[in-house]
Amino acid sequence: MQTEKRDVLDKLNCPVEDKCGGCQLQHLSYEKQLEEKQKQVNMLLDKFCNVGDIIGMENPYYYRNKVHAVFDTDKKGNIISGVYEAGSHKVVSVDSCLIEDQRADNIIVTIRGMLKSFKIRTYNEDTGVGLLRHVLIRTGHMSGEIMVVLVLGSHIFPSKNNFVKALIKIHPEITTIVMNVNNKKTSMVLGEREQVLYGKGFIEDTLCDKVFRISPKSFYQINAVQTEVLYGKAIELAGLKGNETIIDAYCGIGTIGLIASSHVKKVIGVELNRDAVKDAIINAKRNNIKNIYFYNQDAGVFMNQMADEKQSVDVVFLDPPRSGSTEQFLDSMISMNPKKVIYISCNPETLERDLAYIVKRGYEAKIAIPVDMFPGTEHCEVCVEMCRR
Ligand code: SAH
Repeated sequence: MQTEKRDVLDKLNCPVEDKCGGCQLQHLSYEKQLEEKQKQVNMLLDKFCNVGDIIGMENPYYYRNKVHAVFDTDKKGNIISGVYEAGSHKVVSVDSCLIEDQRADNIIVTIRGMLKSFKIRTYNEDTGVGLLRHVLIRTGHMSGEIMVVLVLGSHIFPSKNNFVKALIKIHPEITTIVMNVNNKKTSMVLGEREQVLYGKGFIEDTLCDKVFRISPKSFYQINAVQTEVLYGKAIELAGLKGNETIIDAYCGIGTIGLIASSHVKKVIGVELNRDAVKDAIINAKRNNIKNIYFYNQDAGVFMNQMADEKQSVDVVFLDPPRSGSTEQFLDSMISMNPKKVIYISCNPETLERDLAYIVKRGYEAKIAIPVDMFPGTEHCEVCVEMCRR
């Protein structure tokens, strides 16, 4: 059944595959994509430990719960929305994407169609003229909630109330709309300033039976189905007994720590993004979890302080960004001597670098499990269990 379903889905084609650059492997069948990823992870990691079979998705399409469209006007004066062409700032027009939530894509097309009658011009990155820069949409997998973030080049949005009313009328499924102002010359999508135009200003979603609040700027895994698989594996590999103190480093809105909290004595979460930490603290209250403490700091500096204070921890979960962890973090972690380290990585190359560093310093890798969080693309998530020798 599963293979049959995949065969049908494998026939879907993307019209902008060559220009977009978002999906490097979409030309391959899903089975082949998984083979490619398995090969790459094996090549990088099998010198450290046994690499398990990659865990793929049953339906590897339309999984992205965070969808971003950049707006522009073409030479003929037509408004377009889509993605930047690979390696450039030229916008490729995209109406529907094989990996994005379809509700989000529909809303983006609607917004594009509304601009002319509301006399809203798209923002020109070079001249700074115009208003609408990007639209960012986040959808709750379980809750069905939808947040639309309108990223504008100016805080002056003349027809905003009517625009919001008209958009909600066409898409009553939208639960919140936020205006974000980004008037800087930057490749970052979101600016600092925010104003809630409709609803509560965030969405909630359920993951592994816990409810999470997700604000516009907080990091949240983009594939909810596979995140549950990944976190389930991470917690299983940690082999928690109930009396441990654990660290959730690079914790985002606190997902891993909050999910692990019922299996341990105490959780300490650390995260650099202020908004994410605020969400994490609210998430602890929302789920009535009392054995978790969050800190808004650089993870390396924080670990360094903990090590200096001779604090003890039993298990460290770390889930750093693509660039991986730092020597400061890893040195401090090792000096605290946890019995286990669970490293979750979205970049096998920096994972290889960090594992090489850790195994030279008293730890051994037991198993690496690749989880396909990003079908169609070349990216792969990996969860590694490491034990003190
Ligand atoms: N564990 C979370 C988030 C993982 S993404 C989850 O699964 O949802 C990586 C997180 O690391 C992001 O939230 C990012 O803001 C944070 N981060 C990046 N650099 C950091 C640093 N130097 N110190 C602490 N957190 C950092």
